[in-house]
Amino acid sequence: MRLIHRLFAISILFITACSPASDTIHETRFMMGTLIEFTIHDAGQEQALSAIEAAGSEIQRIENLFTIYGEGSNPVRLFNQSPPGIMQKLPTEVATLLETALEVEKRSGHAFSPTLGALNRLWGFSQAEAPALPPSDEKISTLSKASLACLQHGSEGSFSRNSPLCELDFGAIAKGYAIERGMETLQSHGINHAIINAGGDIKVIGTHGDRPWKIGIRHPRNSGEVITTIEAAGEISIVTSGDYERYFNHQGRRYHHILDPQSGMPASKAQSATIISSSATLADAWSTALFVMGREGLPLIGKMGMNAILVDDNGDIHYSKKCRIPLAALTLGSYAPYIRYEN
Ligand code: ADP
Ligand code: MG
Repeated sequence: MRLIHRLFAISILFITACSPASDTIHETRFMMGTLIEFTIHDAGQEQALSAIEAAGSEIQRIENLFTIYGEGSNPVRLFNQSPPGIMQKLPTEVATLLETALEVEKRSGHAFSPTLGALNRLWGFSQAEAPALPPSDEKISTLSKASLACLQHGSEGSFSRNSPLCELDFGAIAKGYAIERGMETLQSHGINHAIINAGGDIKVIGTHGDRPWKIGIRHPRNSGEVITTIEAAGEISIVTSGDYERYFNHQGRRYHHILDPQSGMPASKAQSATIISSSATLADAWSTALFVMGREGLPLIGKMGMNAILVDDNGDIHYSKKCRIPLAALTLGSYAPYIRYEN
């Protein structure tokens, strides 16, 4: 069921993202629990395929480094099993992403939190078997209390957890980081025009020939419809968090995978939140944060220089202030970051 939802979401983006031209190469891999689609324009076939191979390996490396699911060990799972109160030195890459995540947590007033591992596992949306019932109120309350602001930051990438229930989970930021690094890998192989689409987390560089890339933002309720199309050229990331891919209905209520850290319950102020930023890592983290904050989060996103499209709990569509001004002129020659909305 979950996979079907994801495939459907991707096919919508695929149709609207670009009309394949003969000098456009597509490849798809299943990683990070979703289909990752690489689209490369204006490069030789051999060069494009070896670049995609390298970018795929990089994304897989990042999944292996950060995931808290599946077999095997990694620094994040080791940290989650470490004795409370004792500082643990994390590898630089993990500590750096954790510091970014903690900064988003602070700025978003705890709408986003990288320490919801135990709570997320309790809900079970990322496990192989999709859940059908909510957990007990008592367990939700215990874990949400134990998960909030539960880390101590030591020196040089060291952290300790203050309770055995405090567990890291990079689920709302690692995919953005992975496509960021995946795109860097494509660029290091000489690719200048590409899209990486990881199930709705999108990063583009360059253009699609003499046109910008076109990205459709799907309607959170009317599958097959888009709420807007974004034309993007240059280095732009467009990341959407929505309640329509991993969810179940119980007694007339929708339960989905983006939790409000304060209550431990699925956040209820939005149906989807899209962030447009040059950084895919920040776009991923902030799309989750904005989803939790709802309309009141929009001014903060604008203040930080990012753009947002929010579909609120009533289904009304809001654009951050900056977003409402469509950029008029195309400056494709310079590949200056460029976005334009077609409503
Ligand atoms: P997706 O993974 O569908 O792209 P998100 O980027 O919004 O969506 O990430 C949701 C995942 O992040 C959840 O599956 C869970 O692991 C974790 N998560 C849920 N709620 C939060 C939150 N408020 N802050 C940070 N991470 C969260
Ligand atoms: Mg996210």
